Amino acid sequence: MHVLVLAEHDGDRLRAGTTAALGFSRQLANGDGDQVTCLVLGDSVATVADDAATFGPVLLGSHADLAEPLADRWAEVTAKVVQSESIDILLGASSTFSRDILGRAGGLLGGAMASDVTGFLRDGDRLVWQRPMYAGAVTASVVLHGSPLIVTVRPTAAETPERRSSPASITPISIDSGRLPGSTGHLGLDGRPSHRPDVTEARVVVSGGRGLKTTEDFERLVGGLADRFDGATGSSRALVDAGLTPNDLQVGQTGKVVAPELYIAVGISGAVQHLAGMKNSRVIVAVNSDPHAPIFEVADYGIVGDLYDIVPEMIQHLDAD
Ligand SMILES: Cc1cc2nc3c(=O)[nH]c(=O)nc-3n(C[C@H](O)[C@H](O)[C@H](O)COP(=O)(O)OP(=O)(O)OC[C@H]3O[C@@H](n4cnc5c(N)ncnc54)[C@H](O)[C@@H]3O)c2cc1C
Repeated sequence: MHVLVLAEHDGDRLRAGTTAALGFSRQLANGDGDQVTCLVLGDSVATVADDAATFGPVLLGSHADLAEPLADRWAEVTAKVVQSESIDILLGASSTFSRDILGRAGGLLGGAMASDVTGFLRDGDRLVWQRPMYAGAVTASVVLHGSPLIVTVRPTAAETPERRSSPASITPISIDSGRLPGSTGHLGLDGRPSHRPDVTEARVVVSGGRGLKTTEDFERLVGGLADRFDGATGSSRALVDAGLTPNDLQVGQTGKVVAPELYIAVGISGAVQHLAGMKNSRVIVAVNSDPHAPIFEVADYGIVGDLYDIVPEMIQHLDAD
């Protein structure tokens, strides 16, 4: 079984979701890393390819016309590679990037797709994919009919695999730029610079909810606590909808799914849609003034009290250590 993982990267290294997807793929290939190829696309991305080659073989498509991950171009190249390499499963991390590109590649290939997969079982020759539905209230078991299979995998579904002692091969693929679709162009990226890691990649995530009254309070308390751990900040949807936090911080059913080593929920009630995005975190700490808040049902450690008193105290203790 040959699996192709489309790399999501920052121009330098693979993103954590992709390394987890490589770990998941290795399980699919019964531990045979040579059956898992990573497809690195972009412009001047040799360092990404070097990073990917520490996990297994790499196909590198480097061209100025692929500098930005425009879905029509990247999907076209990806679909061509799937066909030329006789790939059985095209796989990527479950993310906005993959939703954009892999769905389109699946359409070009006419394959069968399962998104947001968290695991799989073998039933004879069949693979039975598991994917959460209804905000994680049920887990659906899905069998895909068709070929190739297109699958996106939650970053929490597998660990990053061991890196090889010596890197695997990096094989360039030729890009026929004249045949690339040109219906979309990249005008620019209006990014929000932050010194903090992305919420999906951090070891520690501190999230704030409606208990926070202003953006300044969020930054001072939630941001301040996160910085003590070199962690990321997250947000409930209530704060995003109120315009107090940007939507790329939202954790939950319609936000990002995270499973850090430590998740600290500050002034968050624990609605089922929020829990869907963080309940698999290794250790959960909740700060809430309501002792009956549902967040305490999933919390390993709960602190009942006013976050405006408790969080400064936590920061003070951490600074004293
Ligand atoms: C289709 C759909 C999708 C959704 N997707 C998401 C999603 O992805 N992510 C998400 O988060 N939500 C999502 N929601 C919204 C979700 O249902 C909740 O409304 C939201 O999570 C509530 O956010 P909250 O916990 O911050 O606010 P609230 O539920 O209002 O809770 C605020 C909490 O703060 C506590 N509090 C208040 N003041 C203090 C204080 N001074 N000190 C300590 N504690 C205090 C309160 O006791 C309360 O428990 C979705 C809803 C729908 C319908």
